[in-house]
Amino acid sequence: KKYLPFALLLAFPFTDALAQDKKIEKKIDSVLKLMTLDEKIGQLNQYTGGDATGPITNNPNKLKDIKEGKLGSLLNVKGAAETRKVQEAAMQSRMKIPLLFGLDVIHGYRVTFPIPLAEAASWDLAEMENAARVAARETAASGVHWTFAPMVDIARDPRWGRVMEGAGEDTYLGSQIAKARVHGFQGKGLGNLDAIMACAKHFAAYGAAIAGRDYNAVDMSEHTLWETYLPPFKAALDAGAATFMNSFNTLNGIPATGNTYLQRDILKGKWKYTGFVVSDWGSIGEMINHGYAKNKSEAAELAIKAGSDMDMESRSYLPSLAKLVQDKKVSVALIDDAVRRILRKKFELGLFDDPYRFSNVEREKKELNSAENRAASLKMAEKSIVLLKNEKQTLPLSKDLKKIAVIGPLAKSEKDMQGFWSIAWENDKLVSLYEGLKNKVGDKTELLYAKGCGISDSSKTGFAEAVEVAKQADVVIIAAGETLDMSGEAKSKTNIHIPGVQEDLIKAIQATGKPVVVLLMAGRPLIFNWTADNVPAIMYTWWLGSEAGNAMANVLFGDYNPAGKLPMTFPRSEGQIPLYYNYLSTGRPSNSDKDRNYKSAYLDSPNSPRFAFGHGLSYTTFDYSALSLSKTQLTMNDKINVSFTLKNTGKYDGEEVVQLYLQDKFASVVRPVKELKDFQKVSLKAGEAKNISFTIDKEKLSFYNQQLKWGAEAGDFKLMIGTASDKIKLEKDFTLTN
Ligand code: BGC
Repeated sequence: KKYLPFALLLAFPFTDALAQDKKIEKKIDSVLKLMTLDEKIGQLNQYTGGDATGPITNNPNKLKDIKEGKLGSLLNVKGAAETRKVQEAAMQSRMKIPLLFGLDVIHGYRVTFPIPLAEAASWDLAEMENAARVAARETAASGVHWTFAPMVDIARDPRWGRVMEGAGEDTYLGSQIAKARVHGFQGKGLGNLDAIMACAKHFAAYGAAIAGRDYNAVDMSEHTLWETYLPPFKAALDAGAATFMNSFNTLNGIPATGNTYLQRDILKGKWKYTGFVVSDWGSIGEMINHGYAKNKSEAAELAIKAGSDMDMESRSYLPSLAKLVQDKKVSVALIDDAVRRILRKKFELGLFDDPYRFSNVEREKKELNSAENRAASLKMAEKSIVLLKNEKQTLPLSKDLKKIAVIGPLAKSEKDMQGFWSIAWENDKLVSLYEGLKNKVGDKTELLYAKGCGISDSSKTGFAEAVEVAKQADVVIIAAGETLDMSGEAKSKTNIHIPGVQEDLIKAIQATGKPVVVLLMAGRPLIFNWTADNVPAIMYTWWLGSEAGNAMANVLFGDYNPAGKLPMTFPRSEGQIPLYYNYLSTGRPSNSDKDRNYKSAYLDSPNSPRFAFGHGLSYTTFDYSALSLSKTQLTMNDKINVSFTLKNTGKYDGEEVVQLYLQDKFASVVRPVKELKDFQKVSLKAGEAKNISFTIDKEKLSFYNQQLKWGAEAGDFKLMIGTASDKIKLEKDFTLTN
C-alpha cells in the first residue's frame, strides 16, 4: 500500500484513462439529471432501421420516435449520408442524445472476408485482427459505430448452422481469436475514427443448443459452462469488448436474456464489466414463448432486473418500463444503471462532441472497397484454405497444363462466395473459382466448364456432359458444397452430407481416371466419406469472400502454400455428433477403431473423426525433432521451457501451425485426453530448420475443480506437440509439485 502513489505515477497512461473515465462519469451524471424517465427508457430501446416499409428515412413513425427521444440506437442503418440524416432527427429531440448505429459486420463490410470459421482455420491471429481492422475502418467510414461481432460461442455440433460464424470447437483457440477480433474492431480504442464497438455474443452457451437445432434449449453442467463456454467471453471482455449480446437459448431452464446469474452475477459482478448488454433480436419478448414471462411487461421486468440493458426489437421496454417504475416493480436506479452504461459508450465514441463524426462521405468514398482492403481479403482467404488430402502429388497444379476442366454447381458461383451474414452490395465484384482460375492461367491454359448438377437437386442429367468435359482435360477441378443460405442463423440440418447428388457427380468424374481435385465450399464441416476415401486431392475452401476465386487459384497452383488447420472436427456421420477432440476418457476406452468389444464404441462406426481438429496439410513436409524440456519437475511458481526443432523437409517454402497439447493424467476432476494450450504459426523456407519454444506454467496446467475454483493440482502431466490433434509428433511427461 505504501508504494501505491509511486506505482500510479509510473502507470501514467493508466491514470490518464482513469481521469478520463471520471470526467465521463461526471458528464453522464449531468446528462442523467436532465433526463425524464421516458427519455431514459428511450435510450434502452433499439429498433431496426429498414423494414418492410423501406429505409428508415421514409418511415415517419420511426423518425417521430427518434425526435421524441424514444430510441437510443438503431440497427441496420448504414452509409455516411443515411446515418447523418437519421442522426439529424435525433438532434431534434429535446435532449439531443446521439444515436448508436449497429450492424452485423460479421466478416467484412463492403469488402467481404472469409466467414469467421474459415478465418479461424488460418490460426493466424495477426491476420484475423487485420481482417477485423479493415472491416472496422470501412464500417466506421460509413457512419456505423458498432458491430454485433465477434460471435465467440464454442460450437461442437456441425448440425448447428451458426458454426460458420464462430471460431470452432476449441476454448483456447476460440479465446485467442476472440481477443484478436475485438482488438481488430476496436483498434486503438473507442473515440478513434476507425474504431467501432465490438460485441461479444451470444452470452451464453448459445452454441450448445440441444441436437444442434438453432434457438433450442441448453442443458449444461456448471463445470462445462465455466471451463468450455465462458472463457472466450472473458477473453473478449479482457480485450476491451465494448458490448455484449445475450442469447435466445435457455440455460438450465432460465432464458439467457432473463438470466441474473449470467448477466449480473458473472458478467457485471464477478467480471466487473462496465459496458452494456444488448438483448438478441426480440429475445426479451421471446421469454413469453419460453413460458418464463406472461406478457411483455413481465418480460421487460425480468430482463432489466437480470441485466439486459438494451432491448433489441422486442418493443418490451418502451411500453412497459415506466409503468413498472410507477408500480415500484423496477427501481429508477436500475434504469439509470442501464442508461449510464449506454451513455458511457456514446461519450467514449465522441458522439456527444460531434454526433456526425463518423458520417463522412469523403472518407467513405476513399475507404470502401479500396484495393488495399481487397488485398487484405485475398490474403485472409488464402490463409483460410485447408488442404485436407493430397496424394499422388496431385497438387500444386503445374502451370504447363493444356486443359483444365472446372466442374460443379459452385464453380461459377460468385454469390455463394460471400457466405451467410455478408452485407450484400450490388455491383461489387465477387470472384468465382472459374474467374479466379481464368485470371491465373490467362490464355495459356484452356478452361473447360460443365455444371454437372445443381446444389440440392436430384437430377443427374448433367453428369454425361460433365464426364465428357472431364475426359478432355489434363486435370479436373470440382467445386461442390453449400449455397450461402445453407449454413447460418436458423440453418440447422440433420443431414450434413454434401447436398444433393454432388457426391455422385464426384464419383462419376473420378471414374474417368483423370486426376481430380475437389474443392468443398461450405459454412460448416460437411460429410463426404466416399470423396475422402477415393479422391486424391481435397481442399476445404469454406466461403472465402470477395476474392474467393483468386485465393483458390493461388493455392491450387502453389503461389500460396496452404497452411490452414481445421478449427472443428469433421465427423464421419451425423450419428457421431457431438464429436470433438478434447473428450474425457471413459472407463472403457476403445484404443483403436477396431477395439469395440464392450468398449465405449459404436458397433457400426469408428469412433475416430473423418478429419481431426487441427488437421491440415501443406505442399511441403515438416519434421519435428529434438524435444527438450528445461526440467521435468516444476513447482507451482516455476516454468518449463519447452523447445524442439522444426524443419521444412520438402521442396516448398511453407508455414506450419505447431500445436501444443497437454493432458493432466490424474486429477480431482477428470481431465480431457488432450487440450490445446498453445500454438505458433511458423514460416520456414524449403530446407530451413528453426528452434521453436514454448513455456509451460501453472496457468496452462489449471482447471476448474469441483468447487469451480481455478487452479492447478500437483501430479503428472503429458506434453504433446503435433501437427494436428491426432498427429502428435513429440511427447514427454513431466510432474508438477506443490
Ligand atoms: C442474431 C444476432 C444478430 C441480430 C441482429 C439475431 O437474429 O442472433 O446474432 O446480431 O439478429 O441482426
